[in-house]
Amino acid sequence: MARTATRGKRRSPSASPPADWDIPRVVHLYADPSSGTLRVGEIADHFRDELGIPCDVREDFFSHHGGPDREALARAIAATRVRNIMRPFQPMEPLFGEVQFELRLLDEPAKRVPGILYDAYRYLRLMRELLPPRERTLRALHVAFEHRILGTFDEDGRYHARAVVCGYPSVVSTSGIVEGPAKPAAYYKVKAQLSIALGAIPFDAAKEPFKGQFIDYDDPRLTRVATGYALQAAMYHITKEPFCEDPDCRLFNAHWQAELIRAQVQSHRLCQRHREIARRVARAEPSAKGLSREPASGRRESHGRGR
Ligand SMILES: [Zn+2]
Repeated sequence: MARTATRGKRRSPSASPPADWDIPRVVHLYADPSSGTLRVGEIADHFRDELGIPCDVREDFFSHHGGPDREALARAIAATRVRNIMRPFQPMEPLFGEVQFELRLLDEPAKRVPGILYDAYRYLRLMRELLPPRERTLRALHVAFEHRILGTFDEDGRYHARAVVCGYPSVVSTSGIVEGPAKPAAYYKVKAQLSIALGAIPFDAAKEPFKGQFIDYDDPRLTRVATGYALQAAMYHITKEPFCEDPDCRLFNAHWQAELIRAQVQSHRLCQRHREIARRVARAEPSAKGLSREPASGRRESHGRGR
């Protein structure tokens, strides 16, 4: 840890942040117009209050950074689609219909994509390449709220949907919050039984008995939950450690919806250790914020758990 001679000053040496932290000078949040209950302005307030970092809210990421060639962008997005969740990513030329589908979504960002999984790291790389060079720096933290579901291929040999993917930029998926962390075990039983009885997957009927026990689409608790995931992305950017072991800390890496609701809705606070880290970030001198290092594209990226 960097210790500087501060004797005689009010600031104690331990108050200055460690040299390997990357405290951004500015946070850019990108809206998800498809989520009626996501209030990104409140999340920006939270960043200003809790971390003392200026924060602005932009329109959705692809509207802001996508550039004029929508067809090329649609093709690049379609190329990150996962075609088989049981196999590692295999690059494939997107089909004509898939490109048209993405074009329509780019035209109407308030539309939500049902049931398509995208490879998280290819998707993040595509976003990173769209950032203008002056903003592609560790001085700027970019957190995009997205309706697309991003997944990572894990050691258990399949893809899992993620609520948050920490990288550069970071993505908090409003659909991933619903589909990533597991719902109550009994829900899957009810869903399976109803599927056999009806010959189709009746999502709404299966969800009904468990209402409130998981975060659903357009959930009134979404802003609260998304704030916690955005904080995980910020903590990853600053300290490289997005998650916490304390189940009551907002940085807890929830496997289950019940854990997610405990950490983000019921507790809604940071643990003592992370409160202290947030305080040190908020108190950091402007000179400590935003070293001019470039984000390394090969930097280890991190993601939340899920199914
Ligand atoms: Zn913690």
